[in-house]
Amino acid sequence: MIRYEEFAAHVAEVRARIDAACVAAGRAPCSVTLLPVTKSHPVDAALYAQRNGFAAVGENRVQEAAEKRPLTPAGLRWELIGHLQSNKARLAVATFDRIQSVDSPDLAKRLDRIAGEAGKNLPVLLQANAGADPAKFGADFDGLAALLDAALSCPHLSVEGLMTIAPLDDHPDVARRCFDNLRSWRDALAGSRKVALPELSMGMSGDLEHAIAAGSTMIRVGTALFGAREYPAAGPA
Ligand SMILES: *Cc1c(COP(=O)(O)O)cnc(C)c1O
Repeated sequence: MIRYEEFAAHVAEVRARIDAACVAAGRAPCSVTLLPVTKSHPVDAALYAQRNGFAAVGENRVQEAAEKRPLTPAGLRWELIGHLQSNKARLAVATFDRIQSVDSPDLAKRLDRIAGEAGKNLPVLLQANAGADPAKFGADFDGLAALLDAALSCPHLSVEGLMTIAPLDDHPDVARRCFDNLRSWRDALAGSRKVALPELSMGMSGDLEHAIAAGSTMIRVGTALFGAREYPAAGPA
């Protein structure tokens, strides 16, 4: 694990990139939130983030977050950014303040039922595969429309926006097209359903400039803040 001072220097570097991208796009720097991704790092990563003033951290596996969260102060929020298997839905609702990876109507309905049983309202983002990447979870445009309709009919879910992960590709046009798609899908669905969907969670360390140009409101960054992951990914979330 890197030292706190190194982490703080990385935060300043990433924030400078975000601010420059906002200026280039004619956007206010405060319109983009940086979400530190603490997966595959010890709990210290979340403690660093909290000490630096971050309100939330992102994790991609339910079990890992469930183990770390009790070791951190209550004020820190936890967001799930990885694929959620239905058999982990109950633990996910108990562990996370927001789930960014809702990718099917069945999962939305299951989360709604569990949140209702727990007497909670669960904020969610709907995950779209806006880059048409066979290696990624998430809905295509038609699937996203159906998913949104299902989620909007769930009384215990608050649909706050959309999330996507760009395909891994060296050519910047690939990520740019993916982010432009998510933005236009959001605009189309917000218009036809008369809902706001303000959050667009898109962009990581390598492609945050493109994401901000396309309207991202949340950049998810792990490696550029905390260094290389310390333990490899196990199975899916
Ligand atoms: C791991 C992860 C990130 C952060 O990736 P880095 O390459 O470590 O910056 C962002 N979003 C999702 C969905 C992730 O799983």
